[in-house]
Amino acid sequence: MDFELREEHLALEQMVREFTKKEVIPHAREWDEKGEIPSEVIRKVGDLGLFGVCIPEEYGGAGMDTISYAIAVKEIGAGDGSLGLTVASHNSLCSGHILHAGSEEQKKRFLPRLASGEVLGAWCLTEPNSGSDAASMKTRAEKVEGGWKLNGSKMFITQGSIGGVYVILAVTDREKGKDGITAFVAEKGTEGLIVGKKLKKLGMRASDTAEVVFEDLFLPDDAVLGEEGKGFWDTLSVLNGGRISIAALSVGIGMGAMREAINYAKERQQFGQPIANFQAIQWMIADAMTRLEAAWLLTLRAAFLKDAGKPFVREASMAKLFASEASMDATIKAVQIHGGYGYTEEYSVEKFMRDAKLCEIGEGTSEIQRIVISKQLIRG
Ligand SMILES: Cc1cc2nc3c(=O)[nH]c(=O)nc-3n(C[C@H](O)[C@H](O)[C@H](O)COP(=O)(O)OP(=O)(O)OC[C@H]3O[C@@H](n4cnc5c(N)ncnc54)[C@H](O)[C@@H]3O)c2cc1C
Repeated sequence: MDFELREEHLALEQMVREFTKKEVIPHAREWDEKGEIPSEVIRKVGDLGLFGVCIPEEYGGAGMDTISYAIAVKEIGAGDGSLGLTVASHNSLCSGHILHAGSEEQKKRFLPRLASGEVLGAWCLTEPNSGSDAASMKTRAEKVEGGWKLNGSKMFITQGSIGGVYVILAVTDREKGKDGITAFVAEKGTEGLIVGKKLKKLGMRASDTAEVVFEDLFLPDDAVLGEEGKGFWDTLSVLNGGRISIAALSVGIGMGAMREAINYAKERQQFGQPIANFQAIQWMIADAMTRLEAAWLLTLRAAFLKDAGKPFVREASMAKLFASEASMDATIKAVQIHGGYGYTEEYSVEKFMRDAKLCEIGEGTSEIQRIVISKQLIRG
């Protein structure tokens, strides 16, 4: 048992924290207002290796472990949830799926550009009428000569309008249910791959979320990602890993809000003294930070198990469930500690609160996490 992070983890944490302090925190409000992250910031994140954290070096990635990945997402999330979500979705979902299920040729073709951040990845599972019940998707891939023709539409796709590489889940054999879903990989600009409406959101506003539509999208046979009919099962594996990064993002957002709340509590004077002197404020800080620290330990444990090649489904779901709820709680408390100012755009805590809410919804809602956890506990 060892609670110390290794040297390389601490160095990465320090490096990403510095980057966040200099390049993210001062601009997060502006990105939120504009609804986008500037491309030069994406380039800088790519230069740091954060778009290919766990991708092996042979495919252009940083070749680091899941613990490193969680650290990176946490630190960026402590500056801006949207940039954290961009990094997390890109690494875990699109690149993660290609790394998990792709052929050698697909890995060589797509991963180097994704790992450098030259292109961002989008992962298209959710549809207008299928979210938690992902297997009820309607997007259909029909076998045609030399490939497949896809028709349908996807909803809430991160990087949906700005992605360069799209992983798409579609039904290839309706009769087979979950065994009749296949993953495909497509490039931006392919005829029939249409970017739909960009969605306006409560939070994570600088993270791109859009509808993606397929109209007779032809993809050749070598665009099939993994085995035909195995797409749904690969999706579950991808999401299990992804949940670790959403847990890390939750912790980062919560800690970012608490950082601001603690600073504010030391400065704000009422009744002739800093509000940090009041026990009510101290207890809010203590409770929120205790939950966030516990959430971080759950996250690190899930990441450790994944790195060790051990089962981690239950632990990743527990981390995601607990961390997203701890983040929501911490950000609400951070607003409370700021009083009326917390409710305004003069301070960043209202943004942290809006951003935190996504973590209870994306990559499986809290209700779905509870189902995953209880199934694991009851069925064994
Ligand atoms: C900002 C953002 C980014 C996203 N990015 C992506 C992306 O990149 N790619 C992608 O494919 N998807 C993405 N999503 C979609 C996200 O994963 C879904 O929104 C989420 O899985 C929930 O699906 P839903 O919205 O259809 O809600 P629904 O499934 O309709 O759920 C509605 C409510 O019912 C509850 N519920 C559903 N089923 C059950 C059940 N069996 N028991 C108890 N309660 C239940 C849910 O917990 C929720 O409270 C994103 C969503 C958002 C908001």
